[in-house]
Amino acid sequence: MKQPTGESPVQNHRVGESMNAIHHAHCRFCGTPLQHTLVDLGMSPLCESFLRADQLNQMEPFYPLRVWICGKCFLVQLEEYVSPEHIFSDYAYFSSYSDSWLKHAESYTNLMVERFGLNKESRVVELASNDGYLLQYFIQKGIPSLGIEPAANVAEVAVKKGVPTLVKFFCRETARELAAEGRMADLILGNNVLAQVPDLNSFVAGMKILLKPQGVITMEFPHLPRLMEENQFDTIYQEHFSYFSLWTAEKIFAAHGIVLFDVEELPTHGGSLRIYGRHAEDSTKAVTHRFAALRARECAAGVDRLEVYSAFSEQVKETKRALLDFLIHARREGKTIAGYGAPGKGNTLLNYCGIRTDFIDYTVDRNPHKHGKFLPGTHIPIFEPERIRETRPDYLLILPWNLKNEIIEQNSFIREWGGRFVVPIPHVQVFA
Ligand SMILES: [Zn+2]
Repeated sequence: MKQPTGESPVQNHRVGESMNAIHHAHCRFCGTPLQHTLVDLGMSPLCESFLRADQLNQMEPFYPLRVWICGKCFLVQLEEYVSPEHIFSDYAYFSSYSDSWLKHAESYTNLMVERFGLNKESRVVELASNDGYLLQYFIQKGIPSLGIEPAANVAEVAVKKGVPTLVKFFCRETARELAAEGRMADLILGNNVLAQVPDLNSFVAGMKILLKPQGVITMEFPHLPRLMEENQFDTIYQEHFSYFSLWTAEKIFAAHGIVLFDVEELPTHGGSLRIYGRHAEDSTKAVTHRFAALRARECAAGVDRLEVYSAFSEQVKETKRALLDFLIHARREGKTIAGYGAPGKGNTLLNYCGIRTDFIDYTVDRNPHKHGKFLPGTHIPIFEPERIRETRPDYLLILPWNLKNEIIEQNSFIREWGGRFVVPIPHVQVFA
């Protein structure tokens, strides 16, 4: 028997080193061997792989949800166990099912048009444009727009809305093709896509190729220091390969000739950054004060020191114990609990904590594509929201806690029978 390639018997037998040291994965940005675990969330299925009833008796693939942190560039990352083609071929996430996300998209559009003077001569390109939830607002203003979206079923919805969409993964090659056709962009945007890109270097290099000389890039992604501070470990899942501080994001873009010149802190997804990038050669946009201020704040908090990351793992374990504690007590008192929502983050939480129909009878979702299906791993059934009125649960566990206010408002009728809302993150809280 030959050793698998890349295995070194010498490394396997080093004395006194943790198991981490024999691992061979490398940082997807800088190539440094990954030797430090940020947190280990056990084994988990793909979070958007909802099951049909006829699949419940079949084997279901689970993959390690072990989160690494690079000791050199501090990029927090998962290994790529499943190809993105597999993940996104029949993706069930449609952005347009959240009212607050649509509002976010519309106000973003107004902000960009005003600040950068976009008009009918400009071109906007969105990477991972989903169902056209955002580009529809640019198109309403008569600004030429192109979506690039790998999930064919989601892209089809966008095209029906009148949003031109290319069914493709964005990378260096895609960018070269578009540039060769003269379709370079004044604005390249990507919301929550940077985390989902396995080949990060090709993706960022592609933006450099596609951007006009004075064009602007904006990217939104969850802010790693906020994720850790507010205990949002459930936003870690197989489909999200990378997690960024501003410090690390700046290094990655700089390596590809893009200077970050501004940043906004947003409340979306529990605390996101919107970064603004431009060509390093473009001297028309100065680095803003708020960019320098956030970078300084991050450095003061120690984003570039490994020891700052070490408390997170224990904090996550304690959150699991506290949530189970609440659920066990509620069920022992004879209370019924239903879930609200079937987001990716819910699947990480439920699988990591081992919460199945022994605690939660069912969950509901506004997205009709999910009705009649079951959550991956935990096999909790998903119904339409009307089910709540029919069964009158004592507690409604809100899984997309980032939409907590919207959901509490929409479901305030549960108070008629004394129902209460439970939010699991950052720690268990009950709202009457
Ligand atoms: Zn690295």
